[in-house]
Amino acid sequence: MTHTIDIPAGEARSVTLSEGEVVRVVNSEGHQVVDTWAFCGADLAEHLSMEHSRSATYRILFKPEDVLVSTRFRPMLTILDDTSPGIHDTLHAACSTESNVFYGAPPDNPNCQDNLKDVLAGFGRQCETIPCPWNLFEHAVVRDDGSLVDEPSVAEPGDYVELRAEMDLVLICSACPSSVGDISHGTPRGAAIVVI
Ligand SMILES: [Zn+2]
Repeated sequence: MTHTIDIPAGEARSVTLSEGEVVRVVNSEGHQVVDTWAFCGADLAEHLSMEHSRSATYRILFKPEDVLVSTRFRPMLTILDDTSPGIHDTLHAACSTESNVFYGAPPDNPNCQDNLKDVLAGFGRQCETIPCPWNLFEHAVVRDDGSLVDEPSVAEPGDYVELRAEMDLVLICSACPSSVGDISHGTPRGAAIVVI
């Protein structure tokens, strides 16, 4: 029996997973970026790490069968399936009040960093530094000259990434509310987490 957690536009939700559980992060309405974090259940200092996962896979865009790792190079998530075109940025920081100021966007816009802090506060936790999120469905392209360009997400409605937890962990997904760069192709929309 599946269990669906809807993520309203611009907000974040979490799910606690045991080792071996499988979850889908669903782009319910299409073209929506979903900032995704995973924290080791017992220790927030150990979390899904983009830099460690890029080193572990020797890739900047992860694909099915890749095993993403923690800050301690321990397996955290295996990608089982991906129905989207497979472009999930691993380079950009989460949007934040500070990034909105940096890019000239309204500083009081909702943002993924505050969304993450709010979810962690719900567990009575806080993290000292914000890990780089895995920006599911974010279409950031690295050009041959090393420059980076943002394109609107090409994910279609219903596209999903299916993941297996390789340890007990908390998965947190934020339906990115950013208005910078049109990364979600228009008005930000919701998403969903489905435990299968
Ligand atoms: Zn964001």
